[in-house]
Amino acid sequence: MRVGILGGGQLARMLALAGRPLGLDFEFLCPAPDACAAPLGHHRHAGFHDEDALRALAASVDVVTYEFENVPAETVAVLEGRVPVYPPPPALAHAQDRLREKTLFRELDIPTPAFAPVDDLAQLRAAIEDIGLPAVLKTRTEGYDGKGQFVLREAGQAEAAWAAIGEVPAILEAFVDYSRELSILAVRGRDGEIRHYPLSENTHERGILRLSVARPGEALQSRAEELVRRLLERLDYVGVIALELFQVGDALLANEFAPRVHNSGHWTIEGAEISQFENHLRAVLGWPLGSTDPVGFAAMVNFIGHLPPAEAVLALPHTHLHDYGKTPREGRKVGHATVRYPDAATRDRAVSILRERIA
Ligand code: AMP
Repeated sequence: MRVGILGGGQLARMLALAGRPLGLDFEFLCPAPDACAAPLGHHRHAGFHDEDALRALAASVDVVTYEFENVPAETVAVLEGRVPVYPPPPALAHAQDRLREKTLFRELDIPTPAFAPVDDLAQLRAAIEDIGLPAVLKTRTEGYDGKGQFVLREAGQAEAAWAAIGEVPAILEAFVDYSRELSILAVRGRDGEIRHYPLSENTHERGILRLSVARPGEALQSRAEELVRRLLERLDYVGVIALELFQVGDALLANEFAPRVHNSGHWTIEGAEISQFENHLRAVLGWPLGSTDPVGFAAMVNFIGHLPPAEAVLALPHTHLHDYGKTPREGRKVGHATVRYPDAATRDRAVSILRERIA
């Protein structure tokens, strides 16, 4: 079987690394000449609006999936009808637009921070009145890793916030004083079967994910599973999904979802029976899903901007290095390490050494 992937970054690369042992071949449609997935398959070096390249991709693969949620709707339109595309395109449409996404959460009774649409400065001022401060102004589309966001602490900042995000359609959200950021990763097969990974506890630095710790056995697990199940069923979803959550007391508020494999699930490569990458492939191919049970106690540290020397990482026992083969650049995710220990306390000590002395 041959799998087409839109995008050729590290998520595509790790999908291919998971799929090769299953006998799968890969094609990556990616405009970047140095796509880091390219060594793992055939790189169709083309833009997402290149209809000839899209038709050629559709003709040569059995299924198409994607590694980022900003796939243009026109790209999907060219592919649909020619080849199965999973996760289903409506999931993309919701994930691309924060207003649609949060409105869907509301419809599904998935709690979210209070929010309101903002299309101009007057509406922003009215939203500040309604929601109160502090609040976060976020562009409806194309925001990621904290980009396209402005935290408002006083009403006098309205004009500056509106200018800072580029005066584009946005939403204003209540700023949540959360105790933890968590994510639940789940996978749904073509037959509707759903499996969940244990919650990940996530720490961001300068808006970019730095650390994910697997938290099997958390009391909030079943609540998170219930919330993500509503989303999966409404979207008739196929593949891996990540739902990002804020914990406030014992409650969970949904921040956003990613219709794809997710950075907070990289620990599943070594820390779960079957990784998010393999399960995503199994799902989109209509194959039986694999166990999402944890193996040991795992955590993942991202390497951002530069990779530490391999020797330093590998000197830590029970530690697995992933070098994405990318050119180092400020703010760029260039690799990660997963530690997987037989107990949580030694895992946490290894994570501290990795973060504070090595990464
Ligand atoms: P996002 O792009 O929506 O995932 O936001 C990036 C990061 O900003 C999140 O992981 C949080 O750390 C923070 N953040 C986003 N929205 C809020 C909010 N409503 N309240 C507090 N922090 C937030």
